[in-house]
Amino acid sequence: MAKHIFVTGGVVSALGKGIAAASLGNLLTARGLKVVLQKFDPYLNVDPGTMSPYQHGEVYVLDDGAECDLDLGHYERFTDVTLTQDNNLTAGKVYEAVLYNERKGKYLGRTVQVIPHVTDEIKRRLRLPAAKDSAVDIIITEIGGTVGDIESLPFLEAIRQLRLESPQADTCSVHLTLVPYIEAAGEIKTKPTQHSVAELRSIGIQPDFLICRARQRIGDDARRKIALFCNLPPEFVFDGQDVRSIYEVPLNYHAQRMDDLVCQRLQIEAPREADLTDWERMTRIILDPPDRVRIAIVGKYIELKDAYKSISESFVHAGIPHHVGVDPVWVDSESLEGRDVGERKFAEVFRDCHGVLVPGGFGDRGIQGKINAVRHAREQGLPFFGICLGMQCAVIDIGRDLASLDMANSSEFDPATPHPVIHLMEDQQYIEMMGGTMRLGAWPCVIAPGTLAHRCYGQTEISERHRHRYELNNAYREALQRAGLVFSGTSPDGCLVEIMELAGHPFFLAVQFHPELKSRPDRPHPLFRGFVGAAVEHQRAARAPQQQA
Ligand code: GLN
Repeated sequence: MAKHIFVTGGVVSALGKGIAAASLGNLLTARGLKVVLQKFDPYLNVDPGTMSPYQHGEVYVLDDGAECDLDLGHYERFTDVTLTQDNNLTAGKVYEAVLYNERKGKYLGRTVQVIPHVTDEIKRRLRLPAAKDSAVDIIITEIGGTVGDIESLPFLEAIRQLRLESPQADTCSVHLTLVPYIEAAGEIKTKPTQHSVAELRSIGIQPDFLICRARQRIGDDARRKIALFCNLPPEFVFDGQDVRSIYEVPLNYHAQRMDDLVCQRLQIEAPREADLTDWERMTRIILDPPDRVRIAIVGKYIELKDAYKSISESFVHAGIPHHVGVDPVWVDSESLEGRDVGERKFAEVFRDCHGVLVPGGFGDRGIQGKINAVRHAREQGLPFFGICLGMQCAVIDIGRDLASLDMANSSEFDPATPHPVIHLMEDQQYIEMMGGTMRLGAWPCVIAPGTLAHRCYGQTEISERHRHRYELNNAYREALQRAGLVFSGTSPDGCLVEIMELAGHPFFLAVQFHPELKSRPDRPHPLFRGFVGAAVEHQRAARAPQQQA
């Protein structure tokens, strides 16, 4: 029988519930337990696939093609499992299922209600990972939103019922709260935590553990006070102080014996103690790398770092084997377009950068700026890495500049372009619905031996995750090849270009897929690793003449 851990948050949003859940998952996995993490979001969208990154950050895509909340990225990175569409549920999906059942006549004439029909569906989904795999020891379910929101009520009610129906040792509740520091009073305040726990208890859930998010450790007096008012032993109130790197969080929890106490509470005999030696070593390099490189990320959602979460994390991972920290330099693609943007501007923007990455995206805003960035990196011999839309921009740049295809473009941005070097995939042409209809999830790709891509991967057959509607137009393959472009990776039938590179450049590589979704801290993605390696080389070369002088 799998045990359940429910993770909720109170006082404010953005407390880092996802990292907390992932970190607890990390520790329990390290103890030899089989852990599944899932995220239940109270909003009505069926999935986040149609949402703007400004709403919920990046859309994280799984192998099976599910478009998910970005917390699933943290789960995969911290526990190194491959999740599925079962592991992300929204209120929209719950209602979709309930209404479908109603239309099918499954409720036998009864009035369909939030209790029991909606809550039953949520409970079914809470238990689903165990129903599908009897080897699962622990299911950690994070509930999105903040306790007290109207929208999250059915989810919390389902948890209350599930707890009531289960033996006490089978479920536990972990609640994150904010313990703010009030400047004027010069002290931290526990009242918001007390209120938030009172709110949770009024719904019928007494939390078993509290994680206090605060700037610093809260101290034993505050811990005792919180414990007393929230009806908990003080050692069940954990410090969740701010840390420099999210990879420190499992170490912080372990130092407070969180995994021990959770196992005790759930009466689980874990096969072993958690050995965090490797994780500690890795975190030390992340925190204090001997050197640093700077990579420009040219995008249009740069004010919102969550829009490129997996890319940022992939750089953290890729720096580790090179013993460098990667500092992202966020460049607004719209600032690189317009008549007055001359060579001087580019030299200024990219002056101290050792590489340029153009990430994925949708729509034509800022496109010319991205194309200009590709050209700058290409002409200056600056390592370049293009991802999805980034690859499409590289094809446009090379089409226009090296293959003499005047006004070449993607038909996404200019439907009337004389040279649609990027065009809609054939099976996308008749699709009208927006949600869940792109080319999604893991697809195989074959790599040509002897190419840069091959050197990075060290193998010729790979599988990567996708999320796109457009592709390189095969009618232009020859022209682009003549211009110097090498198609180093394609779908196994050869029809779809997945990876391209430019010979004679230190590192110019672009991909149609999203490698950032498969990077893990202990297994950096080969392309990010290769790209950061090229950036390190570039920096070394730039330093050499200075040192000689
Ligand atoms: N808009 C492009 C497409 O649909 C790129 C998508 C992306 O970067 N994820 O193909």
